Amino acid sequence: MAWFKRESAGLEPQPDRVIKSEGLWFKCDGCRHIMWKKDFEANYEVCTKCDKHFRIDTRTRLAQLFDDGVWTEEDGNIETTDPLNFTDLKPYKGRVKAAQKKTGRKDAVVNARGKMNGREVIISALEYGFIGGSMGGVVGETVTRAAEKALAAGIPLIAISATGGARMMEGTVSLMTMVKISAALAKLDDAKIPYISILTDPTTGGVTASFAMLGDLNIGEPGALIGFAGPRVIEQTIRQKLPPGFQRSEFLLEKGFLDAVVHRREMKHYLTRALDWMTNTPREAEAS
Ligand SMILES: [Zn+2]
Repeated sequence: MAWFKRESAGLEPQPDRVIKSEGLWFKCDGCRHIMWKKDFEANYEVCTKCDKHFRIDTRTRLAQLFDDGVWTEEDGNIETTDPLNFTDLKPYKGRVKAAQKKTGRKDAVVNARGKMNGREVIISALEYGFIGGSMGGVVGETVTRAAEKALAAGIPLIAISATGGARMMEGTVSLMTMVKISAALAKLDDAKIPYISILTDPTTGGVTASFAMLGDLNIGEPGALIGFAGPRVIEQTIRQKLPPGFQRSEFLLEKGFLDAVVHRREMKHYLTRALDWMTNTPREAEAS
């Protein structure tokens, strides 16, 4: 009965006919939809089926907002001095070094200056990949400088948050930073220069408690987790179950904590229109 059995090992893949598809596909962990990575990237790293907004780094984010993806970085050379000489499981200095190597940045923020649809703006964006986008003394100084430069030049400031909050390894220095940035933003307000805050997934802790919620407009990305304390801490404190969607952009918009929830694809256009209205000044023709 040899014809019932498979006698050879079966089909052998021929090396010249193997197509490498690894890395070409992206699977959404929200709806399990599988899409071409190129389509996903062309869609601003948002799922083409369920619209889940994935976290993106500052480089990708800034390229989406500035005309032709061109901007100049400012204040990128400030480094922490480890003011508390802090060690938890590892020395803080070592954590900073590792994060610098991973992201190619000195700390968790980028100040970028360039044109957005023909209008000059300064954007201060947090890098989540650098110790969770946490706000220590360097982030404080850098965002403050962005506000001071916007004030001196009379151009709008946009902050983009992606952060777990204050950096615990810098303790009080992080907390003082909240005051420092808030004071600089108050001067912008006095001078009637627009400041817009974009809150992306996640924006929590001390950043929410300071500059992220101080915008003339506070805009959330769809589905972003935005809050001060985490939901588990709140549930344990108030001993109540929280409603579904609590601390997500849409819920916060409904409760009046945000002014708008804007799709990443629409963000540049939305910011431009908002600044047209807020500044009432002409700009060069819309580039894209
Ligand atoms: Zn999806």
